[in-house]
Amino acid sequence: MASPGAGSGPGTFRHGVHPDGAKEATEHLPVERMPFVERYTVPLAQHLGAPAIPVVQPGQRVQRGQLVARAAAFVSTAHHAPVTGTVVSIGKERYPSGALVEAIVIDADRFDPQMLAPGPAADWRSVSDKDFMALVQGGGIVGMGGAAFPSHVKLSVPEGKGCDQLVINGCECEPFLTCDHRTMVERPDAVLRGVDIAGTRVGCKGAVIGVELNKPDGISSLQAAIERRQARIARGDNDGVSFPIRVHGVQVKYPQGAEKMLIKALFDREVPAGKLPLDLGYVVNNVATMVALAELVDGGSPLIERVVTVSGSAVRRPANLLVPVGTPIRAVLDHCGGLTAQVRQVVMGGPMMGMPVATLDAPVLKGTSGLLAFEEARDPLKEAGPCIKCGQCLEACPYMLNPSRMGRLARAGRVLEMEDWLVMDCVECGACTWVCPSEIPLVHLFRSAKATIRKKKAAEQAAAKKAGGAS
Ligand code: SF4
Ligand code: SF4
Repeated sequence: MASPGAGSGPGTFRHGVHPDGAKEATEHLPVERMPFVERYTVPLAQHLGAPAIPVVQPGQRVQRGQLVARAAAFVSTAHHAPVTGTVVSIGKERYPSGALVEAIVIDADRFDPQMLAPGPAADWRSVSDKDFMALVQGGGIVGMGGAAFPSHVKLSVPEGKGCDQLVINGCECEPFLTCDHRTMVERPDAVLRGVDIAGTRVGCKGAVIGVELNKPDGISSLQAAIERRQARIARGDNDGVSFPIRVHGVQVKYPQGAEKMLIKALFDREVPAGKLPLDLGYVVNNVATMVALAELVDGGSPLIERVVTVSGSAVRRPANLLVPVGTPIRAVLDHCGGLTAQVRQVVMGGPMMGMPVATLDAPVLKGTSGLLAFEEARDPLKEAGPCIKCGQCLEACPYMLNPSRMGRLARAGRVLEMEDWLVMDCVECGACTWVCPSEIPLVHLFRSAKATIRKKKAAEQAAAKKAGGAS
């Protein structure tokens, strides 16, 4: 089984890139609460998996934190009202990508104080695994590092597998983003409380929080919280949880926060292609997810708001904001003084893996770690150059893939052949795109190729099923 084995020095992984961190504008800014606005839009699907099912009707009054949509399947989560107000409609609304998706629209009650009524602390220790998963799923908790994958799925350890170490990702390796950094500085005890709960439920022997070394105040804040926890354990006052937790500084490199890269840095172990961290005894979660879990379990608070970093050259007043999920992107940017006249692009998430925002009327999602606006952007009409076979993308790829070869196949329309070159192992980190001197949009080519291959496989499976049923 796994054990912390990387020693005390800062670990890392092979390859990767070193983009400018660009975190100076917000890394020392405390998190401030975004004022409430008039209207909120809560999409029913904010991650991979089945969209949630509405349990409210247009015209219905809802309280802040009230369930408005229930999970529809195992890979699905509930959603809750981000404000007290009235459900205006349930129907198609714009997603940040520009796509139309099903969403619940709620108008805030301007005269309501918008206090979240504290709920009872949940019995998280003695309930069955099934009931604990239902608690997390019903609280709408998702991974808050960006992908927003439902947390109850990540905290499910199937029969025959075991979690040796709970790994907490505090790397925040994407440039510009500082929401996790501020969470570690400002709420270290809540992070550790979430670690205590998650670690106990997955049955880990210990937990390690990996933090990039460019966040020394985050590391010292967590370290101080660990010492307070040790004192509680010594007094027999830590809810009976005593497994060891340590903070480990890791090198500043992109994508250090990718799960497999973090495991390599912390434990010097490689998770093979096609395998999951759990196959080696690791469960990986993000620091902000631990805070959300603690708030759900101890205060009955579902996930209805999150910290968002607002930054970039076109933002007048960069900030770290606590924003209700569903707030229009435009309102968040306006709260930060609006954008400069030279704005060229708005991105949701970080600049490496984030999604270009097609409409500012779209809402902040549970996975929105950042809203970045730039005065310069890659010109989508500019023709990318030819691959000059410089090999820089091969040096950058942390998964040891061949982006050059895959890119040439994609541009030649030979998408299906890309599977032989392991395109399905690409985690879309964007490191290859970042280094490419010919400005080839490699990660976009790979994302689209993966979608094509998935679609083809699904069609084949459906056809095989049909043929099986007919025989
Ligand atoms: S970095 Fe760009 S130009 Fe260089 S080998 Fe890779 S795809 Fe080709
Ligand atoms: S986007 Fe994919 S191919 Fe490119 S560096 Fe990241 S993992 Fe490798």
